[in-house]
Amino acid sequence: MKKILYIILFIFVLTSSTHGSGADSNTYSSGNESQSVSQSLFGLNDDYETPYYILHGRKTTPVILVQGGMHGDEIASYMACDEILKNIKITEGTLVIIPRLNKRACDLNTRYINVDLNHAFPGDIDSEVYEYRLAYEMMYMVDSLKPDLVINLHEALTKYDSEAANNSEKAFGQVVITCIQPFEEMLTDAVTNMNEKITAENQKFHPHYYSFSDWSSLDNFVSKFDIKSYTVETYRGFNIDTRIKLQQIAVLQFMKELGIKFDYPEIPLD
Ligand SMILES: [Zn+2]
Repeated sequence: MKKILYIILFIFVLTSSTHGSGADSNTYSSGNESQSVSQSLFGLNDDYETPYYILHGRKTTPVILVQGGMHGDEIASYMACDEILKNIKITEGTLVIIPRLNKRACDLNTRYINVDLNHAFPGDIDSEVYEYRLAYEMMYMVDSLKPDLVINLHEALTKYDSEAANNSEKAFGQVVITCIQPFEEMLTDAVTNMNEKITAENQKFHPHYYSFSDWSSLDNFVSKFDIKSYTVETYRGFNIDTRIKLQQIAVLQFMKELGIKFDYPEIPLD
């Protein structure tokens, strides 16, 4: 049943006009009439039910999917999603955003409840453990939506340094992770361009290769669906305000690289 709901929702959202309908109470036009916003529930009626949002301009392609809160204690990831939802006005393209993918873990400010969600992919809809069902449903959503790009938002306790570049078994703060080598042009362009907005040298991002893991979300999106996906990691040693800004800068740059057109206020870093 859930599967059918997704398909209906995506078809509705991606074909609906922003003018004159008003039939669905979850859909409205914002102050900027070219943007349409709808809210729905991921994991409807399951333990992990959490809101997600679809924002699009008059032209609905390209499509980016952004998720935060996969690890509930990496708080800048979902706080940045909240900021983006508050501030963005999309004129062309679609943003699908799930701020708190593992809502139960976010509510308790803990990495996970039963098992690490990012080690539970591709998931299992029949599992007793909700993280496996959640992972399965996330895979289903990505496969149904077929976005041009999936961005996963995370944070790390260890900061990137010159030795980190050779460590393909670990994530670091201030990296954008890929499971593909050599680095794709979209990744190197995005990192170069986001770094132009970041003056402090130690806050800049680095492309980072993390070796393929068949249990990880990113690697499953890439290998099973042939969809581009990267993971943004901010350093938890920075203050929360800086981390939220860095996460926003990274997401917005990937949207630009993809060709999504939008308005957004300046993000002043210290
Ligand atoms: Zn994480």
